[in-house]
Amino acid sequence: LAPVYRDMPLTVFEHMSGLARDLGAINLGQGFPDDPPHPALLNALAHATAEKSHQYPPMAGLPELRRAIARFYARTQHLAIAPEGVIVTSGATEAIAAAILGVVSPGDEVLLFAPAYDAYAPMIRRAGGVPVFIPLRPPHWGYDRTAIDAAITPRTRALVLNDPLNPTGTLASPADLAMLAQVCTAHDLIAICDEVWENVRFDGNPHASLLAQPGMAARTVKIGSAGKIFGVTGWKVGWLIAAPEMAAVLARAHQFLTFTTPPMLQWAVAAGLDQPAIAQACSDRWAQTRSALLEGLSREGFAVLDSAATWFACIDLAASGIPLDDRTFAEQAVREARVASIPLSALWEGPDAPRHIVRLCHCKPEALLEQAITQLARWR
Ligand code: GLN
Repeated sequence: LAPVYRDMPLTVFEHMSGLARDLGAINLGQGFPDDPPHPALLNALAHATAEKSHQYPPMAGLPELRRAIARFYARTQHLAIAPEGVIVTSGATEAIAAAILGVVSPGDEVLLFAPAYDAYAPMIRRAGGVPVFIPLRPPHWGYDRTAIDAAITPRTRALVLNDPLNPTGTLASPADLAMLAQVCTAHDLIAICDEVWENVRFDGNPHASLLAQPGMAARTVKIGSAGKIFGVTGWKVGWLIAAPEMAAVLARAHQFLTFTTPPMLQWAVAAGLDQPAIAQACSDRWAQTRSALLEGLSREGFAVLDSAATWFACIDLAASGIPLDDRTFAEQAVREARVASIPLSALWEGPDAPRHIVRLCHCKPEALLEQAITQLARWR
């Protein structure tokens, strides 16, 4: 068997969810809502299941969904996206894989920011590339031009930007986006932009994609997720967006990963994207759950880092007076307090990982959040 996988640890999300299942713990680790999907989305799915074909849809996605995705971004982010540039994938994780396989050749270096979602680097390595991590520092996790310039070499081919950023819940500023676009155009880099949290922002500002910056349309792969927009993570409907010529190449990678995505789910997502009230109801709801988690934790004396986006908020253990590193906290809290969390250092490669921060998921009923906070407060 391939040593790369034989020696690879289980992803932290499955590890913590497995512990939560086995121990009957409240799972604030892996991000997923407990609420049922919006009724209009379920209606669309029931209709598609009854009325539409259950056979292979087109490899690049249903044309109706590709057009709906283009309309969604025209409406919400003022982006002019050609439907031919949209490839429907089986979740954003598959979009990340297809993008990396389609962009990275052996020996290419790819810039990443730490902390980073754990799927990027293993796939870059599997493609023969070399991940080069640039650390972001708490509490603001800001992008530092000097560090980026220092990491660039003649082999640098691409940059991965996750904005809004999981696990921190922070945003790239307009100045950050302008700077990153300058870096990409000056060094002829492709930007792989994981924007799955674009609809889960609480700052009142619409999401701005790196794709919209000058010079970026032809060199950006923008990745999105119906699972995150509608809170249906198990549907595994995602997409990648690129200039049509680039999308055609990335589709060659996609065709041998999953080939297609279940058509009834694609129809339901297309209907959902055309009803702005559904996505709005979802993000309004998550603004409530985010406040409930942040306020409850603060009330119980936990020091929380600000979260402007995503389903997550972070606790600063050191500032909370908890003398445990993040992995020890997560392993003990799930067993003893019966609350699962994600240690931030599990999403960090390279030296100097912060070891005093854990991530909690807030998109849960308030009563469950209260119970989890109480259990953590009694145990700490
Ligand atoms: N994106 C999810 C999270 O950060 C995890 C998804 C997964 O486990 N594949 O919690």
